[in-house]
Amino acid sequence: MCEDDEGFLYPAADENTCIECGLCEVVCPVIHVQPDVEKEQRAYLVQHKNEQVLRESTSGGAFTAIARWVLDRGGVVCGAGFSTDFEVVHQWANCYEDLRMFRNSKYVQSRIGNTYKEAKQFLMEGKCVLFSGTPCQLEGLFSFLRKPYENLVTVDVVCHACPSPLVYRKYLEAQKKKIGSEFTNILFRDKYYGYKYSTMSIIGCNDSIEYHEGIDTDIMMRAFFANMSVRPSCYQCAFKKRYRNTDFTIWDCFDVDKFSKELDNDKGVTRILAHSDLANIILKESSSQLKVLEINSNKAVEGVKEMFHSVSMNPKREAFFVDLNLLDAEVCFHKYFPVTLRHRLEKQARLWTARLGLYKYIKKIFKAINGNREIKR
Ligand SMILES: Cc1cc2nc3c(=O)[nH]c(=O)nc-3n(C[C@H](O)[C@H](O)[C@H](O)COP(=O)(O)OP(=O)(O)OC[C@H]3O[C@@H](n4cnc5c(N)ncnc54)[C@H](O)[C@@H]3O)c2cc1C
Repeated sequence: MCEDDEGFLYPAADENTCIECGLCEVVCPVIHVQPDVEKEQRAYLVQHKNEQVLRESTSGGAFTAIARWVLDRGGVVCGAGFSTDFEVVHQWANCYEDLRMFRNSKYVQSRIGNTYKEAKQFLMEGKCVLFSGTPCQLEGLFSFLRKPYENLVTVDVVCHACPSPLVYRKYLEAQKKKIGSEFTNILFRDKYYGYKYSTMSIIGCNDSIEYHEGIDTDIMMRAFFANMSVRPSCYQCAFKKRYRNTDFTIWDCFDVDKFSKELDNDKGVTRILAHSDLANIILKESSSQLKVLEINSNKAVEGVKEMFHSVSMNPKREAFFVDLNLLDAEVCFHKYFPVTLRHRLEKQARLWTARLGLYKYIKKIFKAINGNREIKR
């Protein structure tokens, strides 16, 4: 796999050793797109009962409960965590403590490495395997395996799009210069002000929060939601659909008030589509750890545009990546994402309404205004 100028990995075949069997094209999930074929499906809202797990998770901590079910059966779990220098990479956990590294979404394309091969090895040894990731990563796994395994449990997310590892590296470089000390953790979705107004937080030694900014002022998040930093294929994603081959599809539920007053406590809720009998069994058997509410599956997906539609390319994307390779990271980020008075005022408005518990009402307004503004800039 070779990295291009935008920081994304692409396969490169060595023409001297390639035997031209064509298998790579036969199994390619982008060439052979699976249609969105209706099948039985149930939907749930879930909130983990353990306060620490809930605090550390992106949404309601469903993933940790599903992973625990697999570990309880002597299985292994694969998900996106950090390497020692905070690159986002797929890796394995075989104990409860290690599940911590998967909690909290990392809005960067994760490096799959050898995990498909390793998954196959574990499956052939008869181990229960949980594999999680973006829809394209899971379709890649299925294509690689080429046959179903009874001991495989799969989780994909509803995915807005996947940002560039280069943008993230440059962002970390700029943050290191500003903060000066070593990082011990990075939370893309810290619940510092609660679930509905999450922040990008950088944690230093002794668990001190060295930096935390919301989607209004944090550059990494602004570049993500302005659709400036994401992989070119995300603009025509082949995996945007409702009926999937995975057992679970998990995503956020900011509009939880539509479904439940009890779960609307600003601590986070995971919305789940269960695509298989196994998924329903796992949720039932995990009910001692989870608050679970079954909802109508049509209502669950209503208005979830990230599930069905690819994002639109930001017209300044090409210029942004040229500058990213030429300019100092801080200068480049400031050029494309200046923090103006409007951003500062918006941040204050978000902060105060979050503190007063009114944030959910104005979030919809910000979304409508900003969604279009960032893309046009
Ligand atoms: C790139 C990306 C885009 C997303 N876009 C949306 C969106 O537009 N709308 C929405 O509602 N939800 C989106 N999600 C899903 C959401 O952020 C939560 O992952 C989901 O709600 C599950 O939360 P949880 O508390 O149950 O899980 P957590 O305990 O927080 O677990 C996170 C799970 O996500 C996986 N993961 C984390 N980072 C990555 C990564 N870089 N690549 C692959 N897998 C990863 C972990 O392996 C783990 O399985 C996105 C997630 C990712 C990774």
